[in-house]
Amino acid sequence: ERQKYIRNFSIIAHIDHGKSTLADRLIEKTGLLTQREMKEQILDNMDLERERGITIKLQTSRLIYKAQDGHEYILNLIDTPGHVDFTYEVSRSLAACEGAVLVVDATQGVEAQTLANVHLADEQGLTIVPVLNKIDLPSSRPQEIIEEIEEVIGILAEDAPQISAKDGINIEAVLEKIVSDVPAPDGDETAPLKALIFDSYYDSYKGAVAYVRLMEGSVKKGDRIKMMALGKQFEVVEVGVSVPTPLAVPELKAGDVGYITASIKNVKDCRVGDTITFANTPTEAALPGYKKATPMVYCGIYPAEGESYDDVRDALEKLQLNDAALSFEPETSVALGFGFRCGFLGLLHLEIIEQRLDREFDLDIIATAPSVIYRVTKTDDEVSMIQNPSNLPPVTEIKMMEEPIVTANIIVPNEYVGNIMELCQNRRGEMVHMDYLDPKRVVLHYDLPLNEVIYDFFDALKSKTRGYGSLDYEFKEYRESDLVKMDILLNKEMVDAFSMIVHRTKADSRGRVICERLKEVIPRQMFVIPIQAAVGNKVIARETISALRKDVLAKCYGGDISRKKKLLEKQKEGKKKMRQLGNVEVPQQAFLSVLKFD
Ligand code: GDP
Ligand code: MG
Repeated sequence: ERQKYIRNFSIIAHIDHGKSTLADRLIEKTGLLTQREMKEQILDNMDLERERGITIKLQTSRLIYKAQDGHEYILNLIDTPGHVDFTYEVSRSLAACEGAVLVVDATQGVEAQTLANVHLADEQGLTIVPVLNKIDLPSSRPQEIIEEIEEVIGILAEDAPQISAKDGINIEAVLEKIVSDVPAPDGDETAPLKALIFDSYYDSYKGAVAYVRLMEGSVKKGDRIKMMALGKQFEVVEVGVSVPTPLAVPELKAGDVGYITASIKNVKDCRVGDTITFANTPTEAALPGYKKATPMVYCGIYPAEGESYDDVRDALEKLQLNDAALSFEPETSVALGFGFRCGFLGLLHLEIIEQRLDREFDLDIIATAPSVIYRVTKTDDEVSMIQNPSNLPPVTEIKMMEEPIVTANIIVPNEYVGNIMELCQNRRGEMVHMDYLDPKRVVLHYDLPLNEVIYDFFDALKSKTRGYGSLDYEFKEYRESDLVKMDILLNKEMVDAFSMIVHRTKADSRGRVICERLKEVIPRQMFVIPIQAAVGNKVIARETISALRKDVLAKCYGGDISRKKKLLEKQKEGKKKMRQLGNVEVPQQAFLSVLKFD
């Protein structure tokens, strides 16, 4: 019957192995788009994604393929974001599929994210269809990589299509493999509705749009539906499929992938991983795997000099419409005034939001040092989660502090293993074990404190492996740790925006680095400025910025007035990017410069 001719699949790959290029090729071969539409409509649809070559927002597309067996198949391609920050979103997209096309760059082989993604696909019980890409390149080693896939991943790869997504070679073989190897869906069409939300976005006309995979039942306009985790009810306004532009259809049935709109005002009511069912005749149990979005990293976001608080709030609200994982609440800083404490899934997510505030909203902001969430047990046994170092209770009231630990998988060529072990040791890592991937590459498994990973760990990894290292990590547990709050004092006044929580053994060296950095970036002023790092009352590092000897105008004493004016103008310009902290002027870049350590 109907479902026999449906295939639901994702494409998974390490970054840059060619996932987006292959997706474009598949759409081109089977979709309804013209060449011109193709250009405008490739799956990575944000500028930022194109620039950074990563998929952030999921897209899905229905393809029609006439297979060699003479039948027409509906292939639903569900794209997944290609970054560790979005592991949960990836897992929900995979849960909507029966199979995954695993793209491996035949010049590179298996990488950290290849393994992480295969692991996620395995957890969802998906059939994995390996594909070797970039065989047009002279440096490709398909036979070696086939053996590597078989050995490391444990799936047969001898028959894997060898393709060039870029040149469009052998794309048909991939389509045939999807048809022959990926199982058809087989949900009960007559059962009560059971649909998995694997993505959602906000449309200013339709409201929140839920991308769904129907596991059981059917849904059409006018049906009264309920979000099972959130408990809210809505009336369906439209159901449709994505081709990849939205196309309304009369009904979606078990096995189908499509979208549902229901005048839902906020994407928060349309959570990825939630199950949609009928309000009156609900399915018995929700689909497993639903999780609330839990931010892992927080930072303060403040309007820079000359920007308004309200503009920043409006921008954050707009971004949040489309990004249920972004959280923010007002906070005040003694140093920076009114701003927001924002929560992110990870550092990339934070970076994306910062850039969007800059590019899409043209806002200058100051972001304070990112912080993870610490679990603090007070002497009265009250437990609290601390996302802002300034909210840490006084030392005398703290019984125990715990920090988040991640499990990291790092893949590096042999010759860099020493460098990376040193890096991980510096970052308080504990090696769990080490495996050889092939004679030339090693996988290192480390437990690392997340607060060591968020400070440019990835950049350090890249620079210590000449770009060959790859990293993947996931949250493991909270662990007790000897942590202290380090404060920075400018001209004897504490600047709360610079405060951070660090491991006791790291406080001295980090304090020294930060003082040195600040000395470099803060311009000399009319008075001597001591810069100090302190833990409690104890100063652990100190630098001094000497005073400017003369007034900037003194030089022109008696000189001509236009020169004087020019100098004043210049001084004003320099001030634009300055922030007054107490009586010290600090350039905006100071807030960034304190974040790099290696
Ligand atoms: P993704 O990060 O997995 O989505 O990778 P992309 O599809 O963005 O591809 C990464 C880079 O590899 C781009 O510069 C592509 O043009 C290039 N690329 C993709 N497929 C091929 C291929 O078959 N051959 C060659 N030579 N380059 C390719
Ligand atoms: Mg991509």
